[in-house]
Amino acid sequence: MPLPVGRAAVLGGSLAGLLHAWVLAEAGWRVTVVERDRRPGKAEFAGGVPQARQAHLLMPAGLYAIERLLPGTTELLTGEGAQRFGLATDIRWLTPAGWLDSFSPRHTIVSFTRPLIDWALRHQVLLHPGVEARDGVEAVGLAVAGTRIAGIRCRERGTRDRTESVLPAEVVVDATGRTSRAPHWLTELGLGAPEESVVDGGVGYCTGLFRRAGADLAGGRAMYLQPRPGRNPRFGILVPVEGDRWMVTVGGMRGFTPPTDPDGFLSFARELSVPEFYEVVRGLEPVAPIHGFRPPPSRRRHYERLADLPEGLLVVGDAACTFNPIYGQGMSVAARSALVLRELLPAGARPARGPGAAGRTGVALPVDSRRIQRAVSREAGAAWQMASSEDLRYETTVGGRRNPLLKLQHAYMDRVLSAALSHRAAQGAFIDALSLTAPPSGLFTPAVLWQAALHGGSRGRRAESRSRSGR
Ligand SMILES: Cc1cc2nc3c(=O)[nH]c(=O)nc-3n(C[C@H](O)[C@H](O)[C@H](O)COP(=O)(O)OP(=O)(O)OC[C@H]3O[C@@H](n4cnc5c(N)ncnc54)[C@H](O)[C@@H]3O)c2cc1C
Repeated sequence: MPLPVGRAAVLGGSLAGLLHAWVLAEAGWRVTVVERDRRPGKAEFAGGVPQARQAHLLMPAGLYAIERLLPGTTELLTGEGAQRFGLATDIRWLTPAGWLDSFSPRHTIVSFTRPLIDWALRHQVLLHPGVEARDGVEAVGLAVAGTRIAGIRCRERGTRDRTESVLPAEVVVDATGRTSRAPHWLTELGLGAPEESVVDGGVGYCTGLFRRAGADLAGGRAMYLQPRPGRNPRFGILVPVEGDRWMVTVGGMRGFTPPTDPDGFLSFARELSVPEFYEVVRGLEPVAPIHGFRPPPSRRRHYERLADLPEGLLVVGDAACTFNPIYGQGMSVAARSALVLRELLPAGARPARGPGAAGRTGVALPVDSRRIQRAVSREAGAAWQMASSEDLRYETTVGGRRNPLLKLQHAYMDRVLSAALSHRAAQGAFIDALSLTAPPSGLFTPAVLWQAALHGGSRGRRAESRSRSGR
């Protein structure tokens, strides 16, 4: 008897969609990637991912996950000019407690513009014989049969014809990003929308590209000035990217949105916590206009709790959970979600014969899709916790829960950070937690607890005054 062929529709052909499509194709599904945009040529900006003009740092956890899924991606990126450097040895990094003097390159960062990674993934994923791309097609709804997903409703874009068609599929992955309409589609079907958690730090971004000459930045390959709650909510990111360019981003929390005109951009850079950033940026030659972006609030949608979630529907990437981008988590969480899917669909676990749509014998995932959705949600959970609790350090943040426990958490993290400036164990734990390579429990080992106990209070304040004086 021939093996059953399962059909999967992945909505959204960006980072999350491509990686999940790859995993499904490797597990034996015939995957159609439905993308609203007509994707531009190699590494060009795509309108459907408007945030792509802003700095996108892929945390080590994301890089490692992508390498496990698509080995050789790092080489592909660096071959195109992406820059590889050590976290945090090669970064001049001003934390809220002071400059971080790094002991060793704990992890590797590869820096690039967002369109380059999207191209690198698309280039590889679409070579898979089980993956077909349908660009210029917009998903407009879900099709269900009983309790199971049966496909998607979609229509061509850019034509006068508004006719909808149904693309049949036993698995549908919504990876349409932060503008996902899945809550609306489910409500339309009478299945209800998922519960949401929302935290709004009101962050604003501005990014420009500048020519990079060898000696622009002494003592490092990149510079990162974190915002300092209660003092200076502005931040600055300076990273080398492909094409011998610097990507320079400045931004701030609510009320500190930078302007996009070149003079305003520079003036904003001058207001960062220390002068070093401005001193470098003011001498750079722009090679592209400056673009601004105001991300909407961070939003976590709890699909795993939705009683009537149709079997076969998964919601991943930003469609399920968006973060305040200043913590650089979104792409990594999306990549790790694809790894989670792979772990639950091991090679050999082909599409299984199941009850199928409309009572017919059909094809189904070999595991309950709700179990996958729960695992995907868990993957986002730690990052969400970290980002939302950091956002709540700003009085201007809207949403989230402020309680005494949060105060304790902030006080403890202040101590860990102070200790991290000069102690190896605390620094390692801090970098691992931030880069999502280890769970937050790593911040509570006996060595870190001990170093945190010895730091804080006066030590933290000394570090801060050192950093204000440019060190
Ligand atoms: C300013 C800013 C800076 C950021 N910086 C970082 C960073 O430094 N590090 C990091 O890890 N993350 C960062 N992020 C987050 C990152 O951009 C997202 O987490 C990531 O893009 C999520 O990928 P995705 O595939 O889920 O969604 P997206 O990349 O948003 O892609 C969604 C895709 O779905 C398509 N689509 C939408 N609707 C439909 C439809 N109805 N039918 C068909 N296709 C559709 C869109 O055209 C698009 O291609 C940043 C975000 C912002 C806003």
